[in-house]
Amino acid sequence: MAPSSKPSYLIVGAGVFGASTAYHLIQKYPGASVTLVDRDAFDAERRVAASWDWSKVVRADYDDFAYCKLALEAQQVFKTDPLWMPYFHQTGIYWICRGGYAQDVVDNYTKLGRQDDIAVLSVSEARKLYGGIFEDADFTGAEHVLVNKAGGWAAAGDCLRAVTRRAVELGVKYVVADVASLQIDASGACAGIKTVGGGSLTASKVILCTGAYTTKLLELSAASTGNTDLRAGDRILAAGITTGLAPLSEVQAKPYEKMPVGFQGYTAKHRKPFIGTLPLTEHKELKWWGEKIFSNTREFLPGRYFSAPPAAKDYSQWDVPKLLKEDIAHQRRLWYGPKSADWEVKTFRICWDAFTSTSDFIISPHSAAKGLYVATCGSFHGFKFFPVIGKYVIQMLEGELSPELEGRWAWDRERPDASQNPEYPRCEMNDFLDSVPRL
Ligand SMILES: Cc1cc2nc3c(=O)[nH]c(=O)nc-3n(C[C@H](O)[C@H](O)[C@H](O)COP(=O)(O)OP(=O)(O)OC[C@H]3O[C@@H](n4cnc5c(N)ncnc54)[C@H](O)[C@@H]3O)c2cc1C
Repeated sequence: MAPSSKPSYLIVGAGVFGASTAYHLIQKYPGASVTLVDRDAFDAERRVAASWDWSKVVRADYDDFAYCKLALEAQQVFKTDPLWMPYFHQTGIYWICRGGYAQDVVDNYTKLGRQDDIAVLSVSEARKLYGGIFEDADFTGAEHVLVNKAGGWAAAGDCLRAVTRRAVELGVKYVVADVASLQIDASGACAGIKTVGGGSLTASKVILCTGAYTTKLLELSAASTGNTDLRAGDRILAAGITTGLAPLSEVQAKPYEKMPVGFQGYTAKHRKPFIGTLPLTEHKELKWWGEKIFSNTREFLPGRYFSAPPAAKDYSQWDVPKLLKEDIAHQRRLWYGPKSADWEVKTFRICWDAFTSTSDFIISPHSAAKGLYVATCGSFHGFKFFPVIGKYVIQMLEGELSPELEGRWAWDRERPDASQNPEYPRCEMNDFLDSVPRL
């Protein structure tokens, strides 16, 4: 029998990049062979994926035109498509801006001809908004507050589960397995993957959507196949950040029931990432993320030092050192001041994502093996594109990305250093570990 000329797709990693790609592929090509493989079941209670979370911000307030446009496209799906709508909460965004950020965002909206409910307010006007819940926030050095009523947040884990389930109902095969390495055939092309359990899966197109683990998987594959060009090198940096949730009582929660997502924006000069406070979850928990963003550089393979999540199966994500817990308490105070002193942060998690120096994604063929593609590197801002990012991955697979996106998302490109990127990790996880007494 002649081999099938139809492509088959093996997507490694079922976070937003992988799940969105699977969902878009099976819609575009009903009946196609699309396999999604992940170390966690898509309906597992807890997962290592950065995309799995209680809540993620869904905003389009980008000073970068391309991401602003893309985020507006995604937000439209969250607002109008019955599959996505139940997970989106349009609470609005309240962004304390430093530098010219607010005006850049407004300029982008104007260029796109958008009439969204977006306003730039003085700090004194903004302090009074939303019943004054942010009056004790840190406005040091802030010039304006950008309020965009169109944005909000999504119940991320629930949304990821629902969309993956729909993809499976449409014909995507979901396999739970830990991928040990890529398989490279005699011609040097990527033929599939090998699992830790000794199994293998093959396809004509293998797409790595492996988030923070991507560097390690490529290093392991380089070691097992001898193709050292598979390595990511300095293209990708795995980085962690802490999140924390504080459950509030009915009485404590009352003033925050209609709160927006809050952002503190900084510039590269401040050497601080933007930080935020997320509205109450269904269990009346407020959530923050910290300002410490760190890599975890170790000798994971003999002589090979790179950053990757901790080696434990769950990336040790629930094992949060005291200094990182303090980072969350600090953010709580920066937003709410003394009135938050008795809100106890009970749940902590370290969330791992893949970064590039410019925070651009990588959505590209991999230049070291035919049939191998990379679609990941959310750089702490990838979730909001979930509804549409798979469409762009297909465009990449089919050579139809716009020249601008093809250039920005390329595997091989000129890569500016990270000095202008306030989010880029500038410390190591080791700096924060609890000290263990040595005898
Ligand atoms: C704390 C935090 C807050 C964030 N907040 C926001 C926000 O508010 N808004 C926003 O838009 N973005 C946000 N982001 C960014 C966003 O979550 C990520 O950019 C995005 O989810 C990355 O998606 P991904 O599919 O590339 O990776 P992931 O979601 O990490 O998925 C990768 C998947 O690959 C699997 N995998 C990896 N290696 C293997 C292997 N060897 N074998 C099998 N499976 C494997 C993993 O199990 C995982 O499921 C945040 C990120 C963090 C960490």
